Amino acid sequence: MKIPDFRKKQTREGFENVSELRQDLISKEWVVIATGRSKRPGAFAKGKREKFEQPISECPFEDPQASGNGEPLLIYYSDKRKRVKGAKKIIKEWSLQVIGNKYPIFGPGDCSETFKEGPYTLMDGSGFHEVIITRDHEKHIALLSLKKVEEIIKAYQERYLNLMEHKCVNYISIFYNHGKESGASLSHPHSQLIAIPILPSDIKRSLRGAKQHYEDHKRCAHCAMLKWEKEEKRVIFQNEYFIVYAPFVPRVSFELRVYPRKHQPNFEKIKPNEIKYLAEALKTALYKLNKGLKDPAYNFFFHTAPCDGKDYSYYHWHIEILPRTNIWAGIELGTGIEVSSIEPEQVAKFLRKIK
Ligand SMILES: [Zn+2]
Ligand SMILES: [Zn+2]
Repeated sequence: MKIPDFRKKQTREGFENVSELRQDLISKEWVVIATGRSKRPGAFAKGKREKFEQPISECPFEDPQASGNGEPLLIYYSDKRKRVKGAKKIIKEWSLQVIGNKYPIFGPGDCSETFKEGPYTLMDGSGFHEVIITRDHEKHIALLSLKKVEEIIKAYQERYLNLMEHKCVNYISIFYNHGKESGASLSHPHSQLIAIPILPSDIKRSLRGAKQHYEDHKRCAHCAMLKWEKEEKRVIFQNEYFIVYAPFVPRVSFELRVYPRKHQPNFEKIKPNEIKYLAEALKTALYKLNKGLKDPAYNFFFHTAPCDGKDYSYYHWHIEILPRTNIWAGIELGTGIEVSSIEPEQVAKFLRKIK
């Protein structure tokens, strides 16, 4: 643990953070109240939501710096044109850039302390919130060239390796929202990365289950799933290093997962020669969904071992792709039981045929 021991404090003087983390007294789950993004209650009224699809002329990601964003934290340039010094020309030639989120959910703060408010525990939402933007306004990952998808994965790894060294950072989540129903607020394709001081409940649950399985069976639960899936009929695509399948226990209809075929807890340890295979697997999965379901909204995210210095050798990193094929209703919200209305075997059969 890179964070010093938490000290209990009765007050929260000087609290000026972009957000605060609040822990549920019973479930111990953390939520974040993004005070820095605060809206007036009226803004939540139906019909008041912001417009999603921006024309190029109104898109803040065509020229992120001119739209008031900071200098890029990482920038890749297009092969075809030479980099020329002078801001305007550089901006025209970038192919990918990473910037700090203008409306961050996590930002500077003190990660070393938790506070008390009545019976509750809270802490600063300290961390990082970055946006990874690809150049083309329309082409999302499913439609990009393999080279461009490789570039995105390289950027994920590069930023991950940089942020994991920070003392407040114990978990890094990389995710991508596509389409209005996915929760994306801008239509220009972009991924996001948050680097945070806590282990989110979903991650904790996943780690706990993987560890228990490892202790009981002396092998990785994910490796056991992969071995079985290969023999069954749920594999959609595979190459030398990665596999895409429709999980036996999906959370939503058409959920897909991308796994490294060899056991590996940490995404950030992906080798340079493996990146193009991951790009191929991810792009193939998204392309098939895009074509098969006529451009559905979806979210994908990485699940990887925390970077808090502890041993997670029993874990197996992967990507989960969740198309917005259904809306959570009372049953899902009330019980946590998620309903899929198609068998994953049918999903795999359908998507395998899509070229
Ligand atoms: Zn744009
Ligand atoms: Zn494994």
